[in-house]
Amino acid sequence: MLKLGCHLSCAKGYYAMARDAVSINANTFQFFTRNPRGGKAKPISDDDLDKFKALCIEQGISTVLAHAPYTLNPCAKDESLRQFAFDIMKDDLRIMDRIPGGMYNFHPGCHVQQGVDVGTSMIISHLNNIITPGLQTIVLLETMAGKGSEIGRNFQEVQNIISGIDLNGKVGVCLDTCHVWEAGYDIVNNLENVLEEFDRIIGLTRLKAIHLNDSKNPIGAHKDRHECIGFGQIGLDALVRIINHPALRELPFYLETPQESLSGYAKEIALLRNFYQE
Ligand code: FE
Ligand code: FE
Ligand code: ZN
Repeated sequence: MLKLGCHLSCAKGYYAMARDAVSINANTFQFFTRNPRGGKAKPISDDDLDKFKALCIEQGISTVLAHAPYTLNPCAKDESLRQFAFDIMKDDLRIMDRIPGGMYNFHPGCHVQQGVDVGTSMIISHLNNIITPGLQTIVLLETMAGKGSEIGRNFQEVQNIISGIDLNGKVGVCLDTCHVWEAGYDIVNNLENVLEEFDRIIGLTRLKAIHLNDSKNPIGAHKDRHECIGFGQIGLDALVRIINHPALRELPFYLETPQESLSGYAKEIALLRNFYQE
């Protein structure tokens, strides 16, 4: 069965979020643990979490993915901003460790004129401080579109970070289809070659999740503008090949498309399920 869901809000609690997922025929989902700009996380009650876990088990939801606030920058120039990224991620992982089978995705960071090498070593030391032996949650680095000074704009930059991590068994990669397309990888005409390259540089065993998005922009645009499935420059056919590809089809897929309501996501989920070869 296709593991597919979308980005949901936990503003009404974790149980309410899992019910939202079930209502749109999602069997996995992604969420922000707090305001995406990095506010304080709402405390989760044991009762809410127990009901959440029970519903997930009942509905066969075995994987959920949390997304770090997108404002965090582990390789910021300013020490206090790096500390902020550290504190928030530490706190998020404390929450995530209460959710079995959870994964945590983050944007590696922007080097802001310090250069890729300086930025990369900052991200490495950030992760080495965050990933402790007791951590249950798998931490995912997201592949980026290469907007501004984003690190992770190609597979080698992602691998350069992974290579520096001591406990790298707890690290994986989340491939965002809009981002890699805008980074210049031709997943429309050359999916095989792109996956071969991913395997050669990072290793496909590291790939733990896919952000399934269409893109408003042509290949190589480096702008990072998501589009709804089938309405962008990647197109439905290419996205259908991605969910059915033998190397990818068992992974969890997350829609981050600019839908305004749950019913919009429900339509995309139904559409993609229809094109999945059981
Ligand atoms: Fe992201
Ligand atoms: Fe993404
Ligand atoms: Zn994006």
